[in-house]
Amino acid sequence: MTASGQADGAVAGGCLCGAVRWRADGPPRASVLCHCDTCRLATGAGAVGWLIFPVEAFHMVSGTPETYHTDTDADRTFCPTCGSPLTYHHHGDRPGDMDVTTGTADDGDAFPPTKDVFLEEKLAWVTAVGDTIKTGDHA
Ligand SMILES: [Zn+2]
Ligand SMILES: [Zn+2]
Repeated sequence: MTASGQADGAVAGGCLCGAVRWRADGPPRASVLCHCDTCRLATGAGAVGWLIFPVEAFHMVSGTPETYHTDTDADRTFCPTCGSPLTYHHHGDRPGDMDVTTGTADDGDAFPPTKDVFLEEKLAWVTAVGDTIKTGDHA
């Protein structure tokens, strides 16, 4: 077994009800904790962990997520049955990245976040991963 929990180095996960399953062919290129307002509203969580995969390495294995197109021109997907937030993709800013919620990975401990993004929007009671960067996108 590798750190990702899959014998072949792939990373897998899925939603709460099990209808939607996803797979990435290899490890994420980054793991971040996002404190932005829109992630908070999209998920209901105080901060959101994201695994960032090359878009070509990411696949939906089963189920069809619903897509919410945000006013910041990003696509956020979620399970239409249970509501689990699944992916974030911004075609304009970062077309090569597919951000996937760390919380939906089968092994959520495999890739802990190594930096915070949008710290300026962080809630006071949320503990940051570190102060490696002060601002940025999910990347
Ligand atoms: Zn579901
Ligand atoms: Zn965010």
